Amino acid sequence: MISKKMTPMIQNNSAIRMMFEEGNRLARLYGRENVFDFSLGNPSVPAPGEVKEAILDILEQEDSLFVHGYMSNAGYEDVREAVAASLNRRFGTRFHKGNILMTVGAASGLNVILKTILDPGDEVVTFAPYFVEYGSYVRNYDGELRVVPPNTADFQPDLEEFEKRISKRTKAVIINTPNNPTGVVYSDETLRRIAGILERKQGEFQSQIALISDEPYRELAYDGVKVPFVTGYYRNTVICYSFSKSLSLPGERIGYLVIPDEMESAGEVFKAASIANRVLGCVNAPSLMQRVIGRCLDAEVDVAAYDRNRNLLYNGLRECGFTCVKPQGAFYLFMKSPEEDEKEFCEVCKKHNVLVVPGSSFACGGYVRLAYCVSYEQIERSLPAFRAIAQHYGLI
Ligand code: PLP
Repeated sequence: MISKKMTPMIQNNSAIRMMFEEGNRLARLYGRENVFDFSLGNPSVPAPGEVKEAILDILEQEDSLFVHGYMSNAGYEDVREAVAASLNRRFGTRFHKGNILMTVGAASGLNVILKTILDPGDEVVTFAPYFVEYGSYVRNYDGELRVVPPNTADFQPDLEEFEKRISKRTKAVIINTPNNPTGVVYSDETLRRIAGILERKQGEFQSQIALISDEPYRELAYDGVKVPFVTGYYRNTVICYSFSKSLSLPGERIGYLVIPDEMESAGEVFKAASIANRVLGCVNAPSLMQRVIGRCLDAEVDVAAYDRNRNLLYNGLRECGFTCVKPQGAFYLFMKSPEEDEKEFCEVCKKHNVLVVPGSSFACGGYVRLAYCVSYEQIERSLPAFRAIAQHYGLI
């Protein structure tokens, strides 16, 4: 019954999900407070109060047939206008509603834009380590993902290797900054160099290459680090944004694409993407949530809470002798495994009731990812377990 395309997906079912099941099993055995689950990127900071107020107010005040009805596939015009105005205020851009397409989160935004631009056999380049679903999304449209190997020195992308992987079949490049799983924010220089390479390659191959900037973590940056806004660097850029992390609404499935006027055939791309949104079965982004975020564009989650977690975990791990790049954004920390096979290391961690995700799930073996979107107390309680693991490896 099951298709040939789905069969391998069942076999490779995400390691992260399996960790989640393992967490539940250990919690049943040892009690939830004695299990240190760093496997899932589910926000631990609640949605800002404005979200609840907006939901209640909309349900009280707005016409319910309007609030719950279908609208144009691209989303409510006033919400798209509000999103454009908010971006213009913050980033000095000149977007209008015709550039903003409301989506069912970043996952759907990526699928919409890939469906819009990919023909079978087209290549999409991305940088390891990367969000594992990129491979599935590209394969959904019979594209091929080409992966630039990781630069483990600082996890900024290796641009020499990048250039080698661009061919005449390259249709898109996906970047993700702040990055899942490393927490690295791409610098202004990195983005300028990526843009330069793409301009050069477009000229060489007489092609158009889209730069898809996957940005669910844009608002989560620490130590005053500024996340550069990518449309200013390269004209064929599409932004894929989500409110899953910035407003802690992952289950509500709401985000947007920005398709700037400067993009090659921008109007046609926008029309095609609206149709892609429909024919992929999303039809339109959730109507109530569109109305909510239209009112909450200036709301923020408590980023300082993630920052406290980041410092506690990073300092705690360093004191134990582990090696990691200090994350500048998102809510993940990427740590070097003290043994070459990081899956073995994950098994040792499990024996101490610590759950972390192997880096090979992000095409970067030898590392593990810790999601610190957990309670501060969980991190405090986990530090003795990390100390015991460090002792096991003779790090302290
Ligand atoms: N892209 C990256 C890098 C992510 O980490 C995630 C979710 O964790 C997504 C996309 C999907 O986010 P959304 O919930 O907006 O679909």
